[in-house]
Amino acid sequence: MERYSLQDIEPLRFPGLDADAPIVIAGPCSAETLAQTLDTARALSTVGIKVFRAGIWKPRTMPGGFEGVGNCGLPWLQTVKRETGMLVATEVATVEHVRAALDAGVDILWMGARTSANPFAMQDIADALHGHDDVTVLVKNPVNPDLDLWLGALQRIRNAGITRLGAVHRGFSSAGAHIYRNDPQWHIPFELRRLAPGMTILCDPSHIGGRRQYIEPLSQIALDTGFDGLMIESHCHPDEALSDSAQQVTPDALRDILQRLVIRSGMPVDDELSLLRQQIDDCDHELLAVLARRMSVSREIGAFKKANNLRVVQPTRYQEMIKARLEEGNSLGLPAEFTQHVMQAIHEESVRQQLNLL
Ligand code: PEP
Ligand code: MN
Repeated sequence: MERYSLQDIEPLRFPGLDADAPIVIAGPCSAETLAQTLDTARALSTVGIKVFRAGIWKPRTMPGGFEGVGNCGLPWLQTVKRETGMLVATEVATVEHVRAALDAGVDILWMGARTSANPFAMQDIADALHGHDDVTVLVKNPVNPDLDLWLGALQRIRNAGITRLGAVHRGFSSAGAHIYRNDPQWHIPFELRRLAPGMTILCDPSHIGGRRQYIEPLSQIALDTGFDGLMIESHCHPDEALSDSAQQVTPDALRDILQRLVIRSGMPVDDELSLLRQQIDDCDHELLAVLARRMSVSREIGAFKKANNLRVVQPTRYQEMIKARLEEGNSLGLPAEFTQHVMQAIHEESVRQQLNLL
């Protein structure tokens, strides 16, 4: 028996988003005021973002930090939805958050790194989600680099009947000073991909990097290693943000980053080549079948000529046939010399087969 049943999870699709393009979710770390939320959302919508994120309930490491505006931010998300048409996403950490967010029509709920590390919290959330099959749920990796804990959190949500399920890689806490705020440990999301090949896995370069200058290189790594998209923090005035100020970018800066990212083929060159070769093989099969059919018609003609005592080669017919084929070949973009070669070779074999009947 499989330990996990995430293999059947299908990629997330969002209206208005091209299935082949990376999914980009963007918005402030926290909704702070209606004006900041709406200004940021409008600017993001203008630069083409279709899914808006904003934290309402913020898990802060130290007490006394900004803990989010709470329930009063939910109508702001509704306003964003109404005014921009974007889908809206927020973090939920308790059953009360889930209920309030679902009641407010929030489209995407995500579980943060501190919540996914806690199986009790994840189970309570999963139970609260039961029966809400149309909501989309994203599970961030737990703070500690433990793939099983991440898989377990995803599995609890899956077991609650949620099929619109994805994961977000935001790096892992580690002791000591590092360039990045959270250690990417890329092998962990890569292993998750192996175990749940169809599931959407996004990368959150904002929380991995912790500084805005790392967003672009981390995003490029994510796209080059098969992530399905990005969750990026963007604030209309990043330096004044009440949380995660150093890692947020303006919507314009985000647009520039996204424009510079290179989208490379997900398919190894070898696979792409073998697909094209398969098409060539298919053409050749068709060609050979047509040639065999043509020779069989030709033999019937040969039998008729023999029965009626006619010559095998009728020069006028041959001239007309070659002329008509050259014109047809030309209209299909085939060089005259090539068409002539091919038709001559075919005709020669036809003649040979008809002569054999005599
Ligand atoms: C966030 O997305 O703002 C957040 C708190 O993220 P994480 O759970 O990854 O720390
Ligand atoms: Mn944040």
